Amino acid sequence: MLGLYIYIFIVGLVLGSFYNVVGMRVPAGQSIVRPRSACPSCSHTLTARELVPVLSYVWQGGKCRNCRTRISPVYPVFELLTGLLFAFTFYWLGWDAEVFIGWTLVSLLMIIVVSDLSYMLIPNKILLFFMIVFVIERICVPLHPWWESIMGAAIGFILLFLIAVLSKGGMGGGDVKLFGVLGFVLGGKLVILAFLLSCFFGTIFGLAGLATGHVKRGKPMPFGPFIMLGALTSYFFGHRLIQYYISFF
Ligand SMILES: [Zn+2]
Repeated sequence: MLGLYIYIFIVGLVLGSFYNVVGMRVPAGQSIVRPRSACPSCSHTLTARELVPVLSYVWQGGKCRNCRTRISPVYPVFELLTGLLFAFTFYWLGWDAEVFIGWTLVSLLMIIVVSDLSYMLIPNKILLFFMIVFVIERICVPLHPWWESIMGAAIGFILLFLIAVLSKGGMGGGDVKLFGVLGFVLGGKLVILAFLLSCFFGTIFGLAGLATGHVKRGKPMPFGPFIMLGALTSYFFGHRLIQYYISFF
């Protein structure tokens, strides 16, 4: 069993490394296969050895082998996080077809984190690709009742659309469409919870950032990482959180 977890973790690491490329290149309109990954400062093409997730960073001491420029620790951390989330998804959902939906959701959200942090953009191409995969998956593994997916997509889309209109640009069109996709996966209740949790995480981070001077007032903050946290919390723990909340009354 442990071997299986390690295997899934490694698959997550490798995919995490790939999702980083997808999140960096698709919004810029570049191909995800060519050119091969290179050092951003000296353009040295990375060899197979230098592409090994996390380990390459460790054994190169966090520096490019060619020009010795420091490599951002964001890359190995992102790969580790993807690996851990893949293993956790399997731990939480187990031998259930739903696990594929969980892995797909983690994949979409990790790509969006990169894309939103790098460009403040959520590309339509990525949303459309994942929407098609989710439709196929939810036909095989429907929510109960099945139309909860349609309801969820409508609720997620309309909720964010209203907020985008009311906040006059506080939310982008990408966020509106993303919550449509999330609603399709999560259903109505959980997509609303995902939104509330995203705002909650964003607010906590924003306040902490203001207090420590890492966030400037009035400067837009990429919301992608908080949507990732909010959506995954809702997906994995949403029903429990709602039960817990109701038990107070
Ligand atoms: Zn270099």
